[in-house]
Amino acid sequence: MGYRCRKCSGDSVINMRQHRLALCEDHFIEWVQKHAAEFIRKHRMLEPEDRVLVAVSGGKDSLSLWSILLDLGYQADGIYIDLGIDRDRDESGYSKRSLQYAVEFAQSVSPRAKLHVLDIKAVYGRSVTEIARGGMGAKRKYCSACGLVKRHELNRMTRELGYAVLATGHNLDDEAAVLMGNSLNWEVEYMARQALVLPASSTGLVKKVKPLARFYEREMAAYAIVRGIPYIMEECPFSEGATSLGYKEVLNSMERKSSGTKLKFYFEFLKAKKKGLLPNYVPPELRLCEKCGEPTGSTGLCAFCRLIERPARPVGVDTLE
Ligand code: SF4
Ligand SMILES: [Zn+2]
Ligand SMILES: [Zn+2]
Repeated sequence: MGYRCRKCSGDSVINMRQHRLALCEDHFIEWVQKHAAEFIRKHRMLEPEDRVLVAVSGGKDSLSLWSILLDLGYQADGIYIDLGIDRDRDESGYSKRSLQYAVEFAQSVSPRAKLHVLDIKAVYGRSVTEIARGGMGAKRKYCSACGLVKRHELNRMTRELGYAVLATGHNLDDEAAVLMGNSLNWEVEYMARQALVLPASSTGLVKKVKPLARFYEREMAAYAIVRGIPYIMEECPFSEGATSLGYKEVLNSMERKSSGTKLKFYFEFLKAKKKGLLPNYVPPELRLCEKCGEPTGSTGLCAFCRLIERPARPVGVDTLE
């Protein structure tokens, strides 16, 4: 790569232009862990004694997050939600392939940590692909059904398994892309809700934190590689054409012209929030769903229960663009 490590002058494994910092393998690992620890402390994400559940997808971010939390001494277990994506087309579909990476990592850290696996089809009789097909509409319906199922089940499992906090692997690129979407559409309420920490509620919402939101996607990919963590590189088959990927491309091209753009965009937003320049997030009044007992803003059934009650259309009728 040609750059020398700023700390020891050894060969660098990464040059982070946005931080004007090139580091060798050992110093990069040290840098990531130090900044993750500071970020967690500064934003009061975790207490040392908290039992943490990491939402693991088999990708670089969530596996790196799990690894970092364990290295920092947290009692962190993982949960993999097997959404059954692709399974009806291919038995070793995307979800199963991703699961293998989660299992492989869990085996490497056993018995320090364990992995919970929740198979949506085994519990609810249908995979997320099949659940999504119950409704009509465009390809994006898969993502909205998937997002809803993940949110519901991760909240439920975190609480039922007795963890204090749910940690997700959202990185800076993810957060900046969401912020860009919200800004372009002037979604002020969504911006108010876009937080590093969502507190627990008395109605049963668990505390949720994003300890990697200060790291670029590229930094997390590098971290997984230098720590020797195998992760799934293929993207979900339904992610193609997602609006958030478009925003990421735009932000990446801005970043190429002016390094640090993403970092500034997101951190200035956090500062603006802190200064009260955005309306405060007022959590909606929640009730408990009549069927599953999870907190919901609606009366009667929650959105998840309404979704899974939908009759599925036969597979042959569905058209994948
Ligand atoms: S791309 Fe969409 S369907 Fe695939 S995992 Fe993400 S949210 Fe779910
Ligand atoms: Zn070094
Ligand atoms: Zn429900």
